[in-house]
Amino acid sequence: MREFKGKCAVITGAGSGIGAALARRAAAEGMNVVLADIAEDQARAVGDSLAGVEALVVRCDVTEEANVNALADAAYDRFGSVDLLCNNAGIVPGGRHRKAWEYSVADWDWSLGVNLYGVVHGMRAFVPRMIEAGRPAHILNTASVAGVVSGSGSVCYGAAKHAVVRATEGLYAGLKEMGAPIGVTMLSPGLVATGIYDAEKRRPDRFASPEGAPTESAELEQMREELYRNATTPEEAADIAFQGIIDNQFYVFTTTAFDPAVASRAEDIL
Ligand code: NAD
Repeated sequence: MREFKGKCAVITGAGSGIGAALARRAAAEGMNVVLADIAEDQARAVGDSLAGVEALVVRCDVTEEANVNALADAAYDRFGSVDLLCNNAGIVPGGRHRKAWEYSVADWDWSLGVNLYGVVHGMRAFVPRMIEAGRPAHILNTASVAGVVSGSGSVCYGAAKHAVVRATEGLYAGLKEMGAPIGVTMLSPGLVATGIYDAEKRRPDRFASPEGAPTESAELEQMREELYRNATTPEEAADIAFQGIIDNQFYVFTTTAFDPAVASRAEDIL
């Protein structure tokens, strides 16, 4: 996909981080943007900051199929077509220092609900309409390095992102087999300086799992600050994603210029 001007981008998780940067980049390309987020106020603030294009803000919990179907209805009603879908909303649940068996079912449900089912619902709500429209379109799914390589980070996050990788491969293969003019790009970020690790502060209710809410040591807080100093910015991640869309590349990733001293301890955080 090379022509963006006047077309429509739908972005989930558009209220923060990479999603907000994708929204800004889409607007800079002249696209009208549908900003979907469970945090409607944050998405509205991002939408209000976009100049020269139309912005539609939709409160949407991507774990709920009906919400994502309503998002598709709202986007098609307003703009007539959807040319770029970014299934981007994501969450790191349940703390990063548990053994695989220590995550509660609530943690697994939340991780799979947002990270995996968010993508599944997006595919199911939008792809049939894109195929029916028969015009060029593109889908960007945000996975993670955590879904590609194993590490010692949140297991229920990595498992969900691994599933996103497989689902995105299936999406790509299915569309290619049909000869549909719909490109697929999987963005696999490394460490990007966003608010993702603050989510547990925003939703203490979700993190208060039966095993006890995870606490973060002062050392970890400090290490995260160090890591973030060298992390990719959300804008850089959005630029990499857009280059992948322009080049119709399936797999794009961001790398992190870690300070070697910090990198040796990074696995404790990621
Ligand atoms: P972020 O926390 O800054 O933004 C995520 C957004 O998703 C937030 O606005 C949040 O409100 C929204 N969201 C959460 N649950 C939702 C739900 N149920 N329905 C709708 N929206 C919901 O995080 P980010 O770093 O920008 O993350 C964007 C994507 O990038 C995620 O898929 C994440 O897993 C992935 N990622 C991030 C990093 C990183 O280092 N930041 C690394 C690898 C992958």
